[in-house]
Amino acid sequence: MKKELPKSVQFVKGVGPRYASLLEKINIYTVEDLLYYFPRDYQDRRKLARIKYLNIGELVTVEGEVLKVSEEKPRPGLSILKVTFTDGTDVLNGVWFNQPYLKKQFKKGERFFLSGELNEKSWRYGKKEIYNPVYEQADEGESIHTGRIVPIYSLTSGMTQKRLRQIIYNALEEYSCHMPDLLPEKLKKEYGLPDIAESIRGLHFPEGRKDYIRARVRLAFEELFLLQLMVLKRKKGNLEKAGIIHRNSSEVIEKFLAGLPFRLTGAQYRVWKEIERDMEKPVPMQRLLQGDVGSGKTIIATLALLKTMANGYQGILMAPTEILAEQHYLKLSKLLQDTGFRIDLLIGSTGTAERKKILDGIAENRTNLIIGTHTLFQEGIDYYKPGLVVIDEQHRFGVEQRFRLKEKGENPDLLVMTATPIPRTLALTVYGDLDLSVIDELPPGRSPIITIWKNEEARMEIYRFTREKIAEGRQAYIVAPLIEPSEEVRAISALEIFEELTESIFQDLRIGLLHGRVSADEKNQIMEEFRTGKIDILVSTTVIEVGIDVPNASIMIIENAERFGLAQLHQLRGRVGRGSHQSYCFLLGNPTTEEGRQRLTVMTETSDGFRIAEEDLKIRGPGEFFGTKQSGMPDLKVANILKDHKLIRLARQEAENIINIDQWQDIYRELYEKINVMELKV
Ligand code: ADP
Ligand code: MG
Repeated sequence: MKKELPKSVQFVKGVGPRYASLLEKINIYTVEDLLYYFPRDYQDRRKLARIKYLNIGELVTVEGEVLKVSEEKPRPGLSILKVTFTDGTDVLNGVWFNQPYLKKQFKKGERFFLSGELNEKSWRYGKKEIYNPVYEQADEGESIHTGRIVPIYSLTSGMTQKRLRQIIYNALEEYSCHMPDLLPEKLKKEYGLPDIAESIRGLHFPEGRKDYIRARVRLAFEELFLLQLMVLKRKKGNLEKAGIIHRNSSEVIEKFLAGLPFRLTGAQYRVWKEIERDMEKPVPMQRLLQGDVGSGKTIIATLALLKTMANGYQGILMAPTEILAEQHYLKLSKLLQDTGFRIDLLIGSTGTAERKKILDGIAENRTNLIIGTHTLFQEGIDYYKPGLVVIDEQHRFGVEQRFRLKEKGENPDLLVMTATPIPRTLALTVYGDLDLSVIDELPPGRSPIITIWKNEEARMEIYRFTREKIAEGRQAYIVAPLIEPSEEVRAISALEIFEELTESIFQDLRIGLLHGRVSADEKNQIMEEFRTGKIDILVSTTVIEVGIDVPNASIMIIENAERFGLAQLHQLRGRVGRGSHQSYCFLLGNPTTEEGRQRLTVMTETSDGFRIAEEDLKIRGPGEFFGTKQSGMPDLKVANILKDHKLIRLARQEAENIINIDQWQDIYRELYEKINVMELKV
C-alpha cells in the first residue's frame, strides 16, 4: 500500500532543522523535491586506481592517506596548497590554487578519495599531481560512498557530498516506494519502462551503465510527456474559446494578389491557405509562421491583416524595433493604398498629441490597422474590434510576451512570425501549443549570398570591391558592434568608421550613420534616404538587424564579426540578397576563441537558417537561445531538449493520445492534477 509522502523534507532521517535550511537554499523543500534532486555527475568507485599505475589522460579515482600538507606562496596573490597522499603503491599530490581555507580539511593520517586527471607538466618532471581534484573523506569500512558508482550532487556551502548523499539515500530507502507513479501502465508496458521507484533509485545510485540508462530514459520520457500534456492542454483550452469567424474574402484577396509585381511562391501559397483556413474557423488561430530571412513573410502577414480588415475587424501588427515598425508602416501603407483602409503607426517616440489622436482612432474604429512596437500591448489602448494580432520576429520578444498578450480579454487570431527556424522537435516543446507553418522556399531568382571571412588586412581590398559595386548602382551596409569608441571594449565603432569613410576613403560617396541614439525623426529620414538610393553606404549598429528590406543593397560588411552571435550574423546577412543582384557578405574578424572561429566558419559554409539555428543552439543552449530563460516552460531536470529528439516525438504522440480521450481528466486524475500544479509554477 502506498502512503502519502510527507511534505517537509525534515521528516527524512538525517535532515533536522539545520540541514533543512541548507536544503532550502538549493530549492529542496519537500521529500519529492529531494528525490528529484538528481546528481550532476557520477564517480565510478567500483574499482579504485592505484597510484603507481596511473597514466596521463585518464580520469581516475584513488583512495589515499594524507602524508603531508604544505602551503606555498610563490608570489603575492598566489597560494598553492599541496596535499600528499599515499595508497601504499606510490605518492600523489592533490594541488589547489588560491584556496588556502581547504588546508584544514586535510589532517595527517586521514583517508580521502581523489578524482581527476594527472597534470601533464608535472608528470614530465617526474611528479604525480592532480590539479583541483574532486575530493571526499573516506570512511572506515563499507558505506554508500565506496565500492560503487557514487552520485555527485551540486552543493551549497555548509553541505558536503557525503552528507547530501546520505540524506538522499535515506529518503530513497524510506520513501521511494511511495512515490506516485504518474505514467499510465499501458505506456510502461509498451515501452518497457521501469516503475518510478526503480527509476529514481537507478538515477541516484545506478548499479551500472545499463541501469542508469533505463532510469534516465524513463524519467526523461515522463518529463517530456508531462510537458506535452501541459502544452496540449493549453492548446485544447484555446480550442474551446470562442474565436472570430472570418468570412471568406477571396475577392479582396485575389484583387490584392493580382496587383503585386510577383506571384506567391508555392510555399507562400501553401502557408497562406493554412492561415486562411484557421482564420475562418470558430476558434482563435494560434499559429507560428517560420521562414528564413528573405522568404517573404511580410506579404503573408499583409494578406492575413487584409482579411481581418475586410471582415470589419482591426488588425494589429507588432514589430520588435521602431525602425522595423516604421518600415512595416511604409511598406504596408503602400501595399494597401488602394484598399481604402486606414493605417496608423504607434511607437514609443510618437508625440503626445499625435498619440492621443491615434488612440482615439483606434477606440472609435476609424483606424483599421495599427502597426507598432511592444507599446501596442500596454495598458490604456482600447481596441475597438481586434480581429488578428501579428507579431513579427517573435524570437526578439521571448515567449513571455506571448502569454501577456493572451490575457487581453478578447480572442483575436494570433500569428507569430519568426526568422529563427528552430528544429522541429524543439518547436514541439517551446512552441508546442502553436500550430506550425513553414515557408521553406525562397522567392525565385535569388542567388546565394557569397560569404567571405577575412581579417583586417583585407579591409582596403573589400573597400575597393564595394566601390565597384556602388559604381554599378548597388548599395552597402557596414555594421559595427559599438556606437562610439569605448575604453573597455576593444572593438570598432560605427562612429569611427563613419568618420574615416567620410573624411578619406569614400569622401565622394553618400554615407549615412544610424544607431540607437539617433533621434526617431532622423532615423526615419536616414532609412528613407537609404531606401530611395540617396545614400550609398549605411554605417550602423545592429539596429538594422531584423527585417530591414532594401533589395538594391547587395553588400554587407560586418566589423568585429567575432563579437556577434550566429543568429545575429544570419539576420544581418539577411539584409542583403533580397533582390536579384548577386550579394556579398564580408565578415571582418579575428576570433580568439574556438567557439568564435566555429561561428564564422558556419557562416561561410551555409546560409540555411535551419542549420545555423541548430549550430547556434548547440553552442548556446536553449535558455539563452530563446532570449528569456524559457519562461512559460517548466525546467527540465533529466531530459535534454536538444538531444532527446526521439523521446520528444514519442512523448508528443502519447500525450496526444491521452488528451484526445474523452474525460481524460477523470480517467487520469493524478496526471491531470500534476499538470495543473505544473501550470501554476511556470
Ligand atoms: P522576410 O521573410 O525576411 O520578412 P520579406 O517579407 O521582407 O522577407 O521579403 C523579402 C523580399 O522578397 C521583399 O523585398 C519582398 O517584396 C520580396 N518577395 C516576397 N515574396 C516574393 C515572391 N513571391 N516573389 C518575389 N519577391 C518576393
Ligand atoms: Mg520580415
